[in-house]
Amino acid sequence: MDADYAIIGGGVVGLSVAWGLLKRGKRVTVLDGDDGSFRASRGNFGLVWVQSKGMKQPRYAEWSQQSAAAWGAFSDELADATGRDLGLEQKGGYDLHFSEESLEERVADYEVLKGKLGGDYPFEVLGHNALRKEEPAIGPKVAGAILHHQDGHVNPLKLLRALADDVRRLGGRVLTGKTVTDVSRNGAFRVRCADGTQVDAGKVILSAGLGAMQLGPKMGFRAPIRPQRGQVLITEKLPKLINRPSLIARQVDEGGIQIGATNEEVGLDDRVTAPGLAQLAAEAVAAYPVLARAQLVRSWGALRILSPDGLPIYQESPEMPGAYLVTCHSGITLAAAHARFLPDWLEKTADAPDLEVFSEDRFAVS
Ligand SMILES: Cc1cc2nc3c(=O)[nH]c(=O)nc-3n(C[C@H](O)[C@H](O)[C@H](O)COP(=O)(O)OP(=O)(O)OC[C@H]3O[C@@H](n4cnc5c(N)ncnc54)[C@H](O)[C@@H]3O)c2cc1C
Repeated sequence: MDADYAIIGGGVVGLSVAWGLLKRGKRVTVLDGDDGSFRASRGNFGLVWVQSKGMKQPRYAEWSQQSAAAWGAFSDELADATGRDLGLEQKGGYDLHFSEESLEERVADYEVLKGKLGGDYPFEVLGHNALRKEEPAIGPKVAGAILHHQDGHVNPLKLLRALADDVRRLGGRVLTGKTVTDVSRNGAFRVRCADGTQVDAGKVILSAGLGAMQLGPKMGFRAPIRPQRGQVLITEKLPKLINRPSLIARQVDEGGIQIGATNEEVGLDDRVTAPGLAQLAAEAVAAYPVLARAQLVRSWGALRILSPDGLPIYQESPEMPGAYLVTCHSGITLAAAHARFLPDWLEKTADAPDLEVFSEDRFAVS
């Protein structure tokens, strides 16, 4: 047997789980596809975000909170091991509103969720003047914001790089340019790639992002995921302008302002469009008027990996026990949970987290 676990997909989800398993002394081989793959881990917005998650399923809110709470130590451990500072900041984040009505509606929703979470949902409402004290660059069109204290952001490319480095340092094998075409089980699992590479392992994790649309059904999963495009813009490096991130814009650790992201149902198309970018720019200028003078240096599109209800899917295959589907929309936010807690679920230890609500059973047709 080549490994205890073969992990299909070397994005942030596969590498976070690989790292957690290696820390538990497991032997791990990661097989990652070719450069033509869609890779959300390289095109995302970098938020470590709690607010608005799990409005209909409080367990998802809790899981995001658990991950956010574990992020600080996770980031420190990766930084110590690799010498890479991930640029993590967790001093809160905003949901900005352009009307009093939408702000009040959202606050009412948060109060309901807060009740379901036993009060553990630390947010405050800032009117325009209070917000302006925190964010002097905010524009007159912004009515106010919800400041949620568990929110933050990170440099997602530095996270990916640190994970890839540390997985190797811990003895994991990471094979790149390996498109898995088939997984079979005869005692151990055999994972086969398009180029003839074979890996035999005790368990298999399918964390191939959108690649799970093809491979999932072959392994006994429903894998009802779909792509959703997000376009993103970034400005030149600027002096400090934005103190805390929001869903509209954030100032990255290197100084640029990242603006995003659209939500578009356009299938497997990750191109940018003029209307998409114009919409982003207009909203960012409405929030922070000074951005009208900023130079834009880059734009890109990337595809989210969405389940029908937007929640993660954690599922052991009913047809191939020992094979797991692990996929989610918020892989940056959940990186710490995937590294720290998900391995206990895979290993079925006594303190494994209860992830039942994230199984594919919720998509069963009655
Ligand atoms: C615009 C945008 C903004 C986002 N913003 C945030 C945010 O602010 N915060 C947050 O938490 N999340 C955010 N996300 C979501 C986050 O980026 C994803 O949840 C995360 O990157 C998913 O990681 P992944 O490893 O599952 O998938 P991917 O990064 O897509 O990686 C999948 C990997 O699997 C490989 N693969 C595919 N098929 C095969 C195969 N057959 N064999 C072998 N390998 C295969 C691919 O090569 C790829 O490397 C955003 C996403 C987008 C698109």
